[in-house]
Amino acid sequence: MIRPLPPNATIGIVGGGQLGRMSALAAARLGYRCHILTTEPDSPAAQVAAGATLGDYEAPATLRAFAAAVDVITFEFENVSAEGLDLLASLKPVRPSPAILRISQYRIAEKSFLNGVGARTAPWSPVASVAELEAAVARHGLPAILKTTRLGYDGKGQAMLRDAADLAPAFAELSPKPLILEGFVDFAQELSVIVARGADGAVTAFDAVENRHRDHILDLTLAPAQVPDQIAATARSVAIRVAEALELVGLLAVEMFVDSGGRVLVNELAPRPHNSGHWTIDACPVSQFEMHIRAVAGLPLPHATRHSDAVMKNLVGPEETALWPALLAAPGLIPHLYGKTEAREGRKMGHVTRLFPKGALPGPFGIAAALGPAAPASA
Ligand code: AMP
Repeated sequence: MIRPLPPNATIGIVGGGQLGRMSALAAARLGYRCHILTTEPDSPAAQVAAGATLGDYEAPATLRAFAAAVDVITFEFENVSAEGLDLLASLKPVRPSPAILRISQYRIAEKSFLNGVGARTAPWSPVASVAELEAAVARHGLPAILKTTRLGYDGKGQAMLRDAADLAPAFAELSPKPLILEGFVDFAQELSVIVARGADGAVTAFDAVENRHRDHILDLTLAPAQVPDQIAATARSVAIRVAEALELVGLLAVEMFVDSGGRVLVNELAPRPHNSGHWTIDACPVSQFEMHIRAVAGLPLPHATRHSDAVMKNLVGPEETALWPALLAAPGLIPHLYGKTEAREGRKMGHVTRLFPKGALPGPFGIAAALGPAAPASA
């Protein structure tokens, strides 16, 4: 058990992006202050927080200054080195624990852990040489996906292998080594489940949602996922099993595939709030961000329920950001903007949510109509 953090205590958030911003907004409503560790002046999170430490995530002096300013530490950005995590954990409570971050930072550890607790994944092999890559392709077949084991996001750090001639160039291009080869999953849908767990072992999971990507970047989330009940239930129970096996204190997003046979395979873990949970701000009494703060602060975790169905559409890059005035004028869209000053290509600038009565999530044409000016190509 941990003692609940009293009102006005300061929660330290590593990372200054939109996930930190929305966590800080949820924390403020619960009477907490947030202090952000970020490399970026004028970051989305620091704009809405009580304070910030500006500096390198690896510099001991920066980490010490950050830890001195806070009562408890959590993350919206996971890629802090093992040494940095250990230093932080020696100074203040870190939730989720550094051990969980290390697993999620390293695809080989992540997949080994998942398989070890009985969660299915794509077939995979670690690959440290072209010879190992050839052997792995012989085992798993083509097509397959070669990925870096660290620091990949939004489809960066991976290559699709379609025939034998792709192997050596892809191996040469991706770094650092070792890499990981994954069998290609011909998925019917991509799902995710966000689960929160408290230090007392209380655990609660939001409903499984369906995620659609464009150019490897999340475009649309449908809540709930349009899958048979039994698949949604399996997805939630896998996520809860993983959170319990990790002894998570905090929030965990579990990204999954549903393959053509209806099997649920875990792709990735993210021990933090997740883009596919933004809909919870508007469609749930307690959002993923509030769950995150509650778990980290040792507050009771209410049941993760939703009062509405929802569609969340990301606003990515200059083109979609230019829709903002039209989105503000469109009826029924709930707008969110992250305070980023420059709308670069591929950058997530904000999102809109559209709510529907429970059970009334429309089909593709209805979704496109409901999103109005934000209607995506993928709806
Ligand atoms: P990741 O970087 O692992 O999150 O992968 C990014 C995206 O690539 C996923 O959301 C999928 O659309 C696709 N992807 C990743 N791994 C596989 C796989 N083994 N089979 C098929 N598609 C994949």
